[in-house]
Amino acid sequence: MNLELVTIGHELLLGFTVDTNAAELARRLATVGVRVVRRSTVGDDGDAIGAAVREALDRTGAVITTGGLGPTRDDITKTTIAALFERRLVLDEDVLRALEDRFRRAGRWPMPATNRSQAEVPEGTRPLSNRWGTAPGLWLEDGVRLVIMLPGVPREMRGILGESVLPRLAERTGETGAIRSVVLRTSGIPESALAERLAHLEDAIAPLTLAYLPTTTGVDLRLTAWSNADDLEPTADRLQEACGPHYYGRGEDDLAAVVLARLRADGRALATAESCTGGLVGARLTAVPGASDVLVGGIIAYDNRLKTELLGVPEPLLEAHGAVSEETARAMATGAQQALGAWAALAVTGVAGPGGGTPEKPVGTVWLAVAVGEHVVALRRVFPGGRNEIRQRAAQAVLDLLRRQL
Ligand code: AMP
Ligand code: MG
Repeated sequence: MNLELVTIGHELLLGFTVDTNAAELARRLATVGVRVVRRSTVGDDGDAIGAAVREALDRTGAVITTGGLGPTRDDITKTTIAALFERRLVLDEDVLRALEDRFRRAGRWPMPATNRSQAEVPEGTRPLSNRWGTAPGLWLEDGVRLVIMLPGVPREMRGILGESVLPRLAERTGETGAIRSVVLRTSGIPESALAERLAHLEDAIAPLTLAYLPTTTGVDLRLTAWSNADDLEPTADRLQEACGPHYYGRGEDDLAAVVLARLRADGRALATAESCTGGLVGARLTAVPGASDVLVGGIIAYDNRLKTELLGVPEPLLEAHGAVSEETARAMATGAQQALGAWAALAVTGVAGPGGGTPEKPVGTVWLAVAVGEHVVALRRVFPGGRNEIRQRAAQAVLDLLRRQL
């Protein structure tokens, strides 16, 4: 089943409210096999709402709207769509009773007259009860066209969607309709290189679709089955294999959690030594429940004096190579191992910018080092972006370097 979304509200067009309703609707409709094929957004304007809904119905036949169902003057979705279907508004006794109960329970009695208008519905409409607010959802269809009107307040939209809309739509699409996805997470490989690695699987993927989703922490691969999901898991497994060492998890898996789990399985302790990331790596690790089994702690050695005093990086080494160098990164990692008594340690030192760059070490240059037991590796990366992005990327990259050593 195909459907369009029309989200309504001046605040959306002005950019003050982010249209989270459309995203949430699309995600949850997919689980019952309803495919959102187009979204549009209009202001609280009768002509604009009427045109958007009419066009969407002409194209696709089914529409969900959000917004404009309140009791105030700017809430005109209901009257506009009633006119489109040539239905008059009639008072719905059940909706009125539910509204009055709500106001009585809240001690707001008598109910303001403006709210009475919320009990008026286009003739032939099925009201969808709203236990989270005052405006009921409205389900209006005439055999050819279907419009489902939902309130704009996300909590109310979500409640009615889950309780009344999804079950009814699921009845129409049947059990097998659900759109399902698997997300494979990768790190340390650019999108284009990953695409080359997976190119030979292109034919095997269809009719599933594969999306590359690059972020500052890596490239996620979203594999989607639009109808029959039988091939989804086997194809995901083949993709995972083709990703090789760049794959680290599925769905919401976090790289910090993956690294901690591997160390925990081996009963190993981890320490951090951070300069330009100033504790970001430690924050990523401590955000994972149970991190204390593995992580003993970290040293934020921002100033060179502390790199020497706390991590034991020799002063002559710092003078000869500079704070952002392979030698310093390695010495920070082994220094953290010793100072904090951990089998594994990771170290980050870099130029986060915007100042401080030189031709040899431009802004974004980061040296990463990982010490695991006797073995030490270091890696130089030059990250794009502003100060924050460079720091986020550096934190992810050093976690990834550790993962690969494990
Ligand atoms: P309304 O039902 O149009 O009165 O909307 C009430 C409130 O819900 C607005 O003030 C917005 O803050 C919020 N809202 C409306 N539409 C959306 C949307 N598409 N996404 C997220 N929030 C929304
Ligand atoms: Mg509104």
